[in-house]
Amino acid sequence: MVAETIVDIQDLNGVGPVTASKLREAGYDSISSLAIAPIRELIEKAGLENSVAQKISKAARETIQTDFVTAKQLYERRQNLQRLSFASSNLDKLLGGGLETQAITEFVGEFGAGKSQICMKLSVNVQLPEKDGGLNGKALFIDTEGTFAAQRVYQMTKAMGLDPEKILDGIIYSRVYNSDHQILTVDHAFKICQEEKIKLLVVDSVLSHFRGEYIGRESLSERQQRLNSHLHKLLRIAQALNLAVVITNQVQANPQAFFGDPTRPAGGNILAHASTHRVMLKKASQGLRVAKIIDSPYLPESETYFQITEKGVEDAVPKNKRDD
Ligand code: ADP
Ligand code: MG
Repeated sequence: MVAETIVDIQDLNGVGPVTASKLREAGYDSISSLAIAPIRELIEKAGLENSVAQKISKAARETIQTDFVTAKQLYERRQNLQRLSFASSNLDKLLGGGLETQAITEFVGEFGAGKSQICMKLSVNVQLPEKDGGLNGKALFIDTEGTFAAQRVYQMTKAMGLDPEKILDGIIYSRVYNSDHQILTVDHAFKICQEEKIKLLVVDSVLSHFRGEYIGRESLSERQQRLNSHLHKLLRIAQALNLAVVITNQVQANPQAFFGDPTRPAGGNILAHASTHRVMLKKASQGLRVAKIIDSPYLPESETYFQITEKGVEDAVPKNKRDD
């Protein structure tokens, strides 16, 4: 985890009061947020001169010593990794023991597949103590489609025997209306995540504004560039603060598929590379849902069943696989 020794960005070499206020306005309000920001971004977002940005970035990195780590430190960082339970042993097992911190997990699926339900459920679970599979922290829920439903969270918590008011208080919600707004919200998320002890950051869904705003081939590369920097910012927050990031994504037709799945995740390579684990969700018969790992650095390609219930999501066994 990032140790903050110098407390204020103004204590950094090269940061005067004017620069400090420019940086704060752009969302950089801690040494660690500066240390992990690309220099190009400091120039663009805070309006700094190249040389100033270079100097500040270097000072911030030196302060928290991010430049070189030993493999032992890497190993220790990995030891800090925590797992958030879905309260479904099927889904926990699929993800190698629960949703991982320091990573982006992407849920992909068509409309109604259960993506938002999973996001809401995780926002509840994250607040549970660690002994109950939670991370004893709050959730930050960035909603791009307006589908977050407080009453549904209320229903889940009631059914789980929790105090709904307390859980609802532990979900910090932001409705974002366009991709600029979404990017800005994540730019400012570092501070709120640190202050509020956020352990889960949700973006549901990550691509819809980008897809709606950038239409046509000529704008595709600009879209992908902005998306790329947005996703990397999410990943850096996950790693610096040891929290879990969940993003959701839709599917699009895959014209190249002769065999197998005629759909694939939207967003192309940029999204494929940024997500640590990708999970495809599908509706199945008997009201069940299938979750399948489609891309992960170490999880096997496997699938499992779950269902959407009053409590949120729960294990399910299809009839033909039951013993009875
Ligand atoms: P998306 O993948 O589009 O985000 P959602 O997560 O919104 O999909 O899932 C919608 C599905 O969840 C619908 O099929 C709906 O029937 C189901 N659902 C919502 N609330 C409940 C509930 N309380 N009990 C059972 N199923 C529910
Ligand atoms: Mg949804």
